[in-house]
Amino acid sequence: MIKVIVAGFKGRMGKTTVQMVNENQDFELAAVYDPRATESNLNEINEYQALDVPVYSELQQIKSAGLDVWVDFTSPASVFANVKFALEQRISPVIGTTGLTDEQVGELQRLAKEKKVGGLIAPNFGISAVLLMQFAQQAAKYLPDVEIIEMHHNNKLDAPSGTALNTAKMIAKVRKEKVQGNPDEKETLPGARGADYQGMKIHSVRLPGYVAHEQVLFGGLGEALTIRQDSFDRISFMSGVAVAISKIKNYDELFVGLEHIL
Ligand code: NAP
Repeated sequence: MIKVIVAGFKGRMGKTTVQMVNENQDFELAAVYDPRATESNLNEINEYQALDVPVYSELQQIKSAGLDVWVDFTSPASVFANVKFALEQRISPVIGTTGLTDEQVGELQRLAKEKKVGGLIAPNFGISAVLLMQFAQQAAKYLPDVEIIEMHHNNKLDAPSGTALNTAKMIAKVRKEKVQGNPDEKETLPGARGADYQGMKIHSVRLPGYVAHEQVLFGGLGEALTIRQDSFDRISFMSGVAVAISKIKNYDELFVGLEHIL
């Protein structure tokens, strides 16, 4: 049994993960963590009355809990400290929280190597999003003019989404850097052309009703290609999270992207 802690267990993704871990016969839901939790056991919460799982609100309490994997769906402001703590305790992190900077990822990768601990940061655990990024990278070899539109629910804290940024980074590996659009274009309303990553524009839509969606638009001479993926339900991320929990202890470095362990 793989002993799992879920950080951010009261959030939208955290709740779905608690359910998935609890229902998977290879995993043990060994603990949950939220610094603002007032409960000491999950069974104090109505929907979890049948469970006997410690709730931790301080990192110090987690040190001697004998955990294998730390699943993190928290917030951009807390994820770095959480992952650093997990690595220092030699608990393998499986990170869905977005918003880590490149410098923070580099520091965590160095720490994972030093501690010889396997871990994964996945901007998106959905197979449709992983495929979209791979297809987009393939298309960009032939169609270097590209713009990305990502659409999420209106409670999302970071923009652009981790998936959109990762898509742009993957495309940038194969696409020669170029400035798109008219070199003399002027925004009469600031922000109209979106964010810029190496000349590629990224547009972030935030609307109620949406979960997580992305479109990558390519334009060529007299033709266009649109690649789109939709995550309609948070359950779509759970098969990726389960694969990561099952496999991550076999590694001794911190990967970025689910495709590295599939
Ligand atoms: P959410 O509903 O706001 O949940 C976040 C939860 O984390 C909240 O309950 C929050 O508590 C708690 N929290 C805040 N600071 C914490 C800390 N230091 N330690 C532990 N818990 C803490 O957000 P969500 O929609 O579940 O999304 C969470 C993250 O996952 C976001 O970064 C989102 O972009 C990402 N995400 C990733 C994927 C993927 O496939 N990789 C898919 C969907 C979402 P309070 O409310 O008290 O602050």
